[in-house]
Amino acid sequence: MAQIIDGKALSAVIRERVKARVAKLERPPALAVVLAGNDAPSLVYVRNKEKACAEAGIRFVFHQLEENVSQKEMLALIDKLNADGDIDGVLIQQPNPLPPNLDMHEAVCRVDPLKDVDCLHPYNAGLVMAGTAAFLPATPAGVVAMLKESNIEMKGKRCVILGRSNVVGKPLAMLMLQQNATVTVCHSHTRDLREITRQADILIAAVRQPLFVKADMIKENAVVIDVGINRLEGKKICGDADYKDCFEKASYITRVPGGVGPMTVAMLLENCVKAYELRRGVRV
Ligand code: NAP
Repeated sequence: MAQIIDGKALSAVIRERVKARVAKLERPPALAVVLAGNDAPSLVYVRNKEKACAEAGIRFVFHQLEENVSQKEMLALIDKLNADGDIDGVLIQQPNPLPPNLDMHEAVCRVDPLKDVDCLHPYNAGLVMAGTAAFLPATPAGVVAMLKESNIEMKGKRCVILGRSNVVGKPLAMLMLQQNATVTVCHSHTRDLREITRQADILIAAVRQPLFVKADMIKENAVVIDVGINRLEGKKICGDADYKDCFEKASYITRVPGGVGPMTVAMLLENCVKAYELRRGVRV
């Protein structure tokens, strides 16, 4: 029977730590979030971030643009936020699927790397690869923090990551390599997936497929970390792993909701404080 890694409880501890750091600063750090359109899940994520920022004492500025906003207007707003000395972090909320009229890669590349609290700018992504990043990408950093806080050793372990996105899978592979894990990254073209996942000491599910990981895909006593957030009919949320099915066989497991999601928000808050400090040369 698995022990539950409680992301909600751990994130509360981290958020309190951030709050204490913020209280010592000259002025509250400020996070600007940009969203084009009305994508409902994106708006939920924005509201969650807004609430968490308010609780930590971080100023939150939301720019919701028209769905048909032009690329030029989007870039002009990013330039304005980059130049604004009162804004420390800039985050472009990315709906799934991405809006067809916008080039999100160009938008992300336009964010000042020192304000890139999402750690998606290629410069910061490169630093993550080099192992010298000031900002760590929030979701992968949240996963690593959960493992560390649960005293789950990554060194020498076989870690299998399902998913190779720039937001989750790839940067997480880099962070786990830095922890001296042996990492395999799987994707939709991976053959014999089950044979690979069954070798994992630590299995990370980030495939955007509801309840994808079943008990017969994991080995006895595997650690199962579920990054997925899927909205089922009736607004019920589930992960990419079948929690109930895997619970008996896993040694540790995360839940959805209440697992990686809250950790992502907590790590983002940490990045906002880091951005404030970086730009003032306070501390890296
Ligand atoms: P994504 O960009 O849609 O990528 C999904 C990845 O899964 C792709 O690499 C895809 O392979 C792979 N995949 C899809 N079907 C597969 C299959 N049958 N077998 C093996 N691999 C398969 O997703 P994402 O942005 O990384 O997000 C992943 C999940 O995490 C989503 O549910 C998302 O909502 C959630 N998420 C949660 C948080 C959080 O804070 N908890 C943050 C971000 C994302 P290909 O590359 O070959 O297409």
